[in-house]
Formats: sequence, C-alpha cells, structure tokens
Amino acid sequence: METYVCPRCGNQDQKYFGQKKDGSFYCRRCISFQGKEAKETSPPYPAKLHLDYPLSPFQEKLSSKLVENFKNKKDSLIHAVCGAGKTELILKTIETALLMGKRPGFAVPRRDVAIELYGRLKNAFPSAKCVLVYGGETENLEGDIIVLTTHQLYRYPHYFDLLIVDEIDAFPYKGDFVLNAFVKKAVRGNLILMSATPPKDILEEFAKEKKSILHLDARFHLKAMPVPSFKECLHALQVFYAAYRLKEYQKEKKPCFVFAPTIYECELAGKILKYFFKEGEIVHSQKENRSFLIEQFRQGKIPFLVTTSVLERGVTLKNLQVIVLHADEENIYDAATLIQIAGRVGRKKGFEKGDVLFLGEKKTESIKSAIGEIEKSNGNLQSLLS
Ligand SMILES: [Zn+2]
Repeated sequence: METYVCPRCGNQDQKYFGQKKDGSFYCRRCISFQGKEAKETSPPYPAKLHLDYPLSPFQEKLSSKLVENFKNKKDSLIHAVCGAGKTELILKTIETALLMGKRPGFAVPRRDVAIELYGRLKNAFPSAKCVLVYGGETENLEGDIIVLTTHQLYRYPHYFDLLIVDEIDAFPYKGDFVLNAFVKKAVRGNLILMSATPPKDILEEFAKEKKSILHLDARFHLKAMPVPSFKECLHALQVFYAAYRLKEYQKEKKPCFVFAPTIYECELAGKILKYFFKEGEIVHSQKENRSFLIEQFRQGKIPFLVTTSVLERGVTLKNLQVIVLHADEENIYDAATLIQIAGRVGRKKGFEKGDVLFLGEKKTESIKSAIGEIEKSNGNLQSLLS
C-alpha cells in the first residue's frame, strides 16, 4: 500500500487516516483544526520599535546576537532563566524583520499569555497593526505583527519570515505532534524558540544542526535566583509544616503560593489550611472563579493560594513566597516544573529574594537537579558580573 503523508501536519502513521465517501483521505491527527487561513497581503508596515525603558547590558548583547542570526538566516534557541525578560530580547529582531518587509509572528501555547503579549507588543510598536488570534478570536487574521496561540498556526501555512515561539516546554505544546508540525509548517524563514527549561530533544537538535543556542543567566534586575530549600517531612505532616510557615509569612505580610500535585491534594490541603486561616483560597483548573481569585490575590486581598501547576508559570507578584507540598511526586514534579515554580519568586525589582521550599519524604533526582540548575545559573551570573 502506498504511504500517505498528511499535507497539513506531516503525519505518516497510516492508522490515523480515514477515507471519505468520495475516496479522498482525511487525517484524524489534525482534523479538529479547521477554519479560514490568512491571506498574504501587502508587506508589513516598517514600524519602529518604541521602548521607554533600557535593556540590561546582557539583554542588549543577546538582542543584538538574535538580530545578527536573523539576518544570517539562522534559527536561535534562547535558554533564559525565569524572570530574565525574554520578551524584550526579541523586540529588536521584530523591528528588523518589519524594516526588511518580512513577516513576524509570535506564538505561545497558552491563551492568557498570548493576550498579555499582545498588549506588550502593541505598546512596543505603536505604529504597527498588531493582531491577536486564539480560539474564539479568529476574525482578523492579517496584520503587521501577529500574536497567536500555537493552536492557530495552521491558519498560516508558509507565512512567517520570523516566527518566535515562547514557552516551548509548556503544556499543551510540549511533545504535541500536531502543534510541533504546525510550527514547522508556518515558518518559511527563521525560528526563535524560547524557554527557561528547554526540552532535551530540542537542545540536542539545535546542537546537532549547529543552530544558535543563546544563554541568559541574568534576571533583568541582575540579582541571583532564590535557591530552593528541601525539607524532609512525612507526607501527612507536610501541610501542617506549611501552616507553620504561612503563619510567619502572614506576620510579615508576604503572599504565598502553596503548590499541591493533584486537584485532590490541593482540595485536601486547602481544607486543612482553611481550618487554621480563614482567608486562604484554593485555585485549580476546575475552579470556575479562578481568574477572580487570582486577581484578588494579586491585589493582596487573599494572603495565600493553594494551587496545582495551573499557576506554575506567568504569575509575577511582589514579594511572593512558594511552598511545594509532596515535591517528591516525580510524575508531576520533574526538574523543569520545579524550576518554573521556583522561578515565580524574587522577580520584582526591590524584592529579589524570597523562600522556595520543597517538602517531601525523599529528595528525588528531580529536586536535586532543579536546585543544581538554579545554582549553576547563579554561578554563571556571578562570573558574568565579575
Ligand atoms: Zn494531519
């Protein structure tokens, strides 16, 4: 039998193909991605970058390197610590693309990140037309700068001369065959991939194909990342130890995230903690009012949130502390997840320090590796600064 290759996602696995009545094939891997595609309009407007704050010298250096790579038609992978200010790094490359009449796009796995990014790019390029595309927001597909979720990339086949993809290790993009295929198909020029914890296969691919891997070990405020501490503690007692720490944080008026590995554990820990504190709240993917609760927390109206990994990324809060319950659950907490969680702390200028506490019955390889990676980045930062 002839091997059929899906023209949209590149799937070659025959078991995913079905046949319509008229004899033509369809691919079950990508069939759910249906809708109108973007048209190629006149070249983008050569908009200038407008940034009203300076980059750190390290950001500046990396930013120039990215422009150089783009001009030399070279793909780049940015491996930057959490809180490095990754978005600022690529603005100059977007400007370069626009001035050359090339089409830039910026894709991220998660919708809320896309929305935030869209706002920032609009501010940075006031004279460009930025469009935002995600599930439910697909009317306007054409503009000078396109910000979208990775799910919407199928609307842009061979479209982008510059495609930036942030959080390449995040759900649902990581390891997703179809979404990864959409990235490859949407780019006709060069890629810039970004992550604080890039997956091993991508690091290996970049090394093998001699593409550019750029490291940024400095947070934008040039202070070291808080190094997590590990405390060995019996499973059932961890929540009580967390309660003891929360009491301290409340006295010092420090907000805190308490992470739990599952919704069940999250609810359970939340109930126990609410026995000690009236004001805490529980937030996980099944909580309908979670945006409201997160906003209340941001405004300082709630002192702590018990949560699952839904808050592992993206949230930046002044003076935040973090406790991870059952951090030894390796199915949930791999090293990358623990690094992302630790990366919530110390991000704001003036509040560069903070506690990251991993509680567990044993110190797993993932815990050791997460602590080791952060110490390594801090070491690199010291040599950069000296
Ligand atoms: Zn397909």
